[in-house]
Amino acid sequence: MIIVGAGFSGLYALHRLRSLGFSARVLERGDGVGGTWFWNRYPGARCDIESVDYCYSFSEELLDEWRWSERYPAQPEILSYLDHVADRFDLRREIQLETEVTRMEFDEDASRWLVDTEQGERFACRWCVMAVGNLSSVKRPSFAGLDDFRGEWFHTARWPHDGVDFAGRSVAVIGTGSTGIQAIPQIAAQAEQLYVFQRTPNYSMPAQNRPLEPEELAEIRRNYVERRQLAKQSEAGVPFPAPDKGAFEVTPAERRRMYEEGWRRGGINSLSYAFTDFFTSHAANSTAAEFARQRIREIVRDPDVAETLTPYQHIGTKRTCVDIGYFETYNRPNVQLIDLRREPIERITARGVRTSADEYLLDCIVFAIGFDAMTGALLDIDIRGRGGETLREHWADGPRTYLGLAVSGFPNMFVVTGPGSPSVLSNMVVSIEQHVDWISDCIAEMRRRGARWFEATSGAEAGWVDHVNELADATLYPLATSWYLGANIPGKPRVFMPYVGGCGTYRQKCDEVARRGYHGFRLGAGRQTAAGREQVTA
Ligand code: NAP
Repeated sequence: MIIVGAGFSGLYALHRLRSLGFSARVLERGDGVGGTWFWNRYPGARCDIESVDYCYSFSEELLDEWRWSERYPAQPEILSYLDHVADRFDLRREIQLETEVTRMEFDEDASRWLVDTEQGERFACRWCVMAVGNLSSVKRPSFAGLDDFRGEWFHTARWPHDGVDFAGRSVAVIGTGSTGIQAIPQIAAQAEQLYVFQRTPNYSMPAQNRPLEPEELAEIRRNYVERRQLAKQSEAGVPFPAPDKGAFEVTPAERRRMYEEGWRRGGINSLSYAFTDFFTSHAANSTAAEFARQRIREIVRDPDVAETLTPYQHIGTKRTCVDIGYFETYNRPNVQLIDLRREPIERITARGVRTSADEYLLDCIVFAIGFDAMTGALLDIDIRGRGGETLREHWADGPRTYLGLAVSGFPNMFVVTGPGSPSVLSNMVVSIEQHVDWISDCIAEMRRRGARWFEATSGAEAGWVDHVNELADATLYPLATSWYLGANIPGKPRVFMPYVGGCGTYRQKCDEVARRGYHGFRLGAGRQTAAGREQVTA
């Protein structure tokens, strides 16, 4: 089989499938393993899920031997972890680096995939596991005049491996999502002058990052099975008990106390884990949003700057950011915030960025403008299923999957943490382990049954798409113009892509499908005719 991508998903898929006796090769376009953590080397890059949870749990030995140094792991530490995993489980011999998959075609006669690469190789395989990541197709800057710029420019997700020295330079950061919010304090500390170009202000929670002490790690390790179990059954793949009260079931004073406690604890769920109705009630959400707005006003000394930084949309419906000293950065004399709503960018010039109000003279521009999320990395590959239908055609009105794992008309192809699964709303590593385990067990079962092809039915897919939409529509999520909806990419269909029902519920549904003999899938052992007559319903 071919596994596309050598990040968290691809590495584990290789390990798991190989241990089941399959021959597998991983094709990876980077010149190292690590996926998102290989590419995103911008200053300040750090995960905002706690390190002890943002890691594999499949190996007791790995859990025993790896020591995380901080509560939130920085990119170099995560990358060393993944390099360690690749060595520790002897994965590298099946990983082919600098190999970019450009085209995949399902050969119906032979029930196999033909996989073509940019480097001119063709692979034939029975199964394909798409471990391409949700945030790996980079949104490229399309500003008029960029080619005229005489300074240097960088995209945070394609950061030079030997870093960038900003000392003594005039720098712009365009974009204030999770990436910009992490990079801005670090760049501000180096650059002579930093201009931050903000289109939409974002909520950000304090990381409250700190070193992890050996005793604390030992305690976590002792209880790790229970900790992980809680994460697996939770909504977001993190080991915190779910809230049990609505925001208005407590007094205003108690609500404030709980938000303050969350703020002191820090992290992405600082406020969202306080009450059950955070994502469903406008009024409940507003109480948390107002608390977060008030913190910005307290931190940022200039009231005009504070106002520009203050978001007014619902909190949490765009991905909440986590920062280390982000709002404080605007108190520095070398940092200027430019509000693109008041003065939009007109073009990039030879000397810098020109807005409707001014020209900002720059040595460097950092684009922190995000990704074509969730579908981009799959659609970047010309994937052709039954009858030559392309995935782009199949998804013309938005992504359609069964369980976020499989696509009808695209047999023997699995997607890890695809659209329609909790994926980006969860701790990705917990979701990745669950998907890879499910996929591996499924393929092993298909081998046992002698199946040559295995495919989601269009009925099951349609039912799942409806279910995903129905759940999302009961929340505030679809009201935000977020990348969850594809709203950051011009022309992309606006469909809420992740599954909001939570990791625990989702896991039960996947297990139930398998228990019922892979209900909603069909499979066949013989050559498949165009009419599909040889199919055997599972
Ligand atoms: P993002 O959330 O999509 O943010 C992109 C930013 O660029 C937004 O502020 C956006 O403004 C702005 N932007 C985009 N196009 C622009 C344009 N043409 N002109 C001006 N501004 C423009 O991207 P991201 O910050 O890279 O984060 C993506 C996701 O990656 C996160 O949500 C998170 O899931 C993940 N991530 C995680 C971590 C972590 O774990 N710590 C760190 C970084 C990223 P608008 O809002 O107005 O569109």
